[in-house]
Amino acid sequence: MPDESEMDQATAFVCSACGNYLDEPGRHDCGSAADVDLVHDEERVRSLLSDAATEPGDIRRYEPLLPVETLDGVSLGEGGTALASAPTLGAELGVQLELKLDGSNPTGSTKDRGSSVVVAHALERGDDVVACASTGNAAASLAAYAARSSLSCCLFVPQRAPDAKTVQPLVYGADVLAVDGTYDDAHALCQRVTSESGWLDRSAGATPYTDAGTRTLGYEIAEETESVPDWVVVPMGNGGTLASTWAGLETFADLGLVEGTPRMLGVQAEGTSPIHDAVAGTSSTDATDTCADSIDVGTPQHLEDARDAITASGGTTVTVTDDAITEATATLGRTEGVFVEPACAAAVAGIRRARAAGSIDGGDHVVAVMTGSGLKDTGTARAAVGEPEQVSAATDATAILQRYE
Ligand SMILES: *Cc1c(COP(=O)(O)O)cnc(C)c1O
Ligand SMILES: [Zn+2]
Repeated sequence: MPDESEMDQATAFVCSACGNYLDEPGRHDCGSAADVDLVHDEERVRSLLSDAATEPGDIRRYEPLLPVETLDGVSLGEGGTALASAPTLGAELGVQLELKLDGSNPTGSTKDRGSSVVVAHALERGDDVVACASTGNAAASLAAYAARSSLSCCLFVPQRAPDAKTVQPLVYGADVLAVDGTYDDAHALCQRVTSESGWLDRSAGATPYTDAGTRTLGYEIAEETESVPDWVVVPMGNGGTLASTWAGLETFADLGLVEGTPRMLGVQAEGTSPIHDAVAGTSSTDATDTCADSIDVGTPQHLEDARDAITASGGTTVTVTDDAITEATATLGRTEGVFVEPACAAAVAGIRRARAAGSIDGGDHVVAVMTGSGLKDTGTARAAVGEPEQVSAATDATAILQRYE
């Protein structure tokens, strides 16, 4: 660990090969392509965080833990999302359930946490363009923050992305390129463009600024829960959301602000389960086939980070079928008034699965992260609930009231 007195800010990146502080990850001159670590001057962070107790109830509260100077002018108020108790669904699943409602972020998903930090960094660098490959939510999210900061935004999404996820970034004025291939193809194309242009790339695994922002999800869960939960449940595509949430939870424990850490339950769809397969040690196919587009990632960029996080936490993984996802979408809406996109419904279905497998015990305190709004993909939700009933405008009132007797 390098000397903390060399740090300008309370939080900085360090090269994990040479141990030097980095102004810019990836640009250090030790010649190593090693990973970077986010390190904190713990005493300064603790003191700044207690000063920040009066900060707005969003991720700006955690500025001392972020590798950028400020989010002012960039932030749309991302973070600070509600942690809602879910007693009816919890009773059905046999656990004490809380839902972290991250679909209420400004663009409707957890991705806003990473996007605002990436854009703040792009502004610090004096960039004009940012880029991203995405199953949809990261693209929509980056586009909003780029628009606010007058940056051009170049996006690569698979042609199969749900309608709302491509309309949204177009409204934010981004260039949206629909790639005739999978998410992995879009990711590879974006990487070719950004490695030639030097643009900051918000795609999974491309810059640690994204992950630094996503850690705020872990900070919030650590701070908001009255006691350390037994489990935190996160749907996994690239695996970065789970890994960063874990890193945030661990940081809060390391800072002595909470006592201990939860276990992580990573949930994947049965048709696209590379991280689960790696954790379980079962053989994996390259198949990608699920209605949960946000976690339909055949080649996860954070497979090892996610696996390490799950192992370090004493956690595990499960897979769920598309039928279980569809069913959970309707159950969440009906029991708790929460409308989520399929990836989050997968997390809820995963709790049921983990209960059946005996990993989650009856009565455990479980926090499930609802990473995205249901309005992102109404087409898939439609399969769960069907069409509204058609009635004539001339229908007798009593004929309708009869149903409620
Ligand atoms: C991105 C995303 C995920 C998965 O996050 P990864 O970092 O790819 O594992 C889950 N749910 C939603 C709604 C997302 O947008
Ligand atoms: Zn180095």
